[in-house]
Amino acid sequence: MSDKIRVRFAPSPTGPLHIGGARSALFNWLFARKRQGDFIVRIEDTDVERSNLVSEEVILEDLKWMGLDWDEGIQVGGEKGPYRQRERLEIYDSYWKRLLEEGKAYYCFCTEEELEEERESLRKKGEMPRYLGKCRDLTQAERDKLREEGRKPVVRFKVTWGETITVEDLIRGRVNFESDGIGDFILVRSDGMPTYNFAVVIDDALMEITHVIRGEEHLSNTPRQMMIYRALGFKMTSFAHISLILGEDRTKMSKRHGATAISQYRKMGYLPEALVNFLALLGWAPEGEREMFTLHELVEEFSLERVSRSAAVFNFRKLNWMNGEYIRESSPERIRDMAIPYLQEEGLVDEKISSQDYQWLKEVIALLQEQLEYVSQVVTHIKVFFGDEIEELSPEGAEMLEDEQARQIVQRFREECIQVESWDKETIKGIFKRIGKELGAGGKKLFQPVRVGLTGTLQGPDLQSLIILLGREKVANRLQNTLHNLTKNTQC
Ligand code: GLU
Repeated sequence: MSDKIRVRFAPSPTGPLHIGGARSALFNWLFARKRQGDFIVRIEDTDVERSNLVSEEVILEDLKWMGLDWDEGIQVGGEKGPYRQRERLEIYDSYWKRLLEEGKAYYCFCTEEELEEERESLRKKGEMPRYLGKCRDLTQAERDKLREEGRKPVVRFKVTWGETITVEDLIRGRVNFESDGIGDFILVRSDGMPTYNFAVVIDDALMEITHVIRGEEHLSNTPRQMMIYRALGFKMTSFAHISLILGEDRTKMSKRHGATAISQYRKMGYLPEALVNFLALLGWAPEGEREMFTLHELVEEFSLERVSRSAAVFNFRKLNWMNGEYIRESSPERIRDMAIPYLQEEGLVDEKISSQDYQWLKEVIALLQEQLEYVSQVVTHIKVFFGDEIEELSPEGAEMLEDEQARQIVQRFREECIQVESWDKETIKGIFKRIGKELGAGGKKLFQPVRVGLTGTLQGPDLQSLIILLGREKVANRLQNTLHNLTKNTQC
């Protein structure tokens, strides 16, 4: 057997891919790529009620969107399949039957009420509620009788009491668990479905997974899984548990804090490389101060040694900043193509876009790109390019146009716009120059009234470019409407 690194991501398809799962997948992928190992993706669908194919599809799509590929597993196949747990039931059967035969597991017939009673009495004594093994020593006759009564048993693992189980965690160091605190746990439910703790061990062992890298929430499952490894004589894998992701209030990251599903970020127009870069820094720290890494660079830099034991805090502002940086670095063509569906949904752009509009959109996006944190914001920023009238006049804008000279500038600018022959930056510059001279105004005093007349506000994209892209007609109409509305307002 080779000593090739083999790691896996094993999502349960019961909902979308969340930030935490995506980060686990990413760390596994980086680890595999860095060490020339295999990355395997398989599906843990033994929760029959909650698992569904739609979630499976979405999770796999999200992984691909992030730029992660896998060498073996669902969709791509491999020698150690099938890669969906529900297609592996016979494999699990052979192993739990073996444990039964060897006396390492047993049928348990206790009802939910009996179990609750036991838990309650342990709680009253201040002990950890757990299963104490009541059915461990049932005779065959007793078992037959219970079956005849119609009881459907589960299969439980026989925990050896009085043991200390040590997890040598590659991130957290040595973590001890006392077996006395772990009741005989269920391997197979009464409907024949294996539990997570059991199936995951069979899969990891048979797929020859060398490193199990997953979220900290699974650390308490690890001693149970190690017991099964030992009972079946499997070669033990290495474990690495990545710390939780917290919101900025230091509680576990949840919907309360904001979007937690990768698909939500995708829908909002985050760039995959930005999200991946951001996720990589949640718990992993590169050497030095650098923060921006491509996927390829992350592979170069990544190591489990630099994954932190302490919780990572999800900082939305940082994500938005980082995404903005990636947007600014992207070509306007790419951002335009990403922006079009949002614009279409908003009715700002036709379903079928003319090549002229397509080109125009590129120039508009090039101008707006600077301000975007994520691409769907484009629908707000782009509004300034539509319509013959400004949406509203901001208080500062209104104040500026109270000034007689400011209004004169707007008026003159409009007249000049209609008269000039060409429509380019030089021409616009020339107009401003002429009016400036004529009215004795310069700098902000000259430009800002026109900006307000066109947009209603004092801030926005580069004014000359804005004017060019708006086009002569819209510029003239807007300025006229703004002036007209001003006089209307003063009259009433
Ligand atoms: N299906 C489990 C989960 O999604 C996988 C846990 C593991 O990696 O062992 O949390």
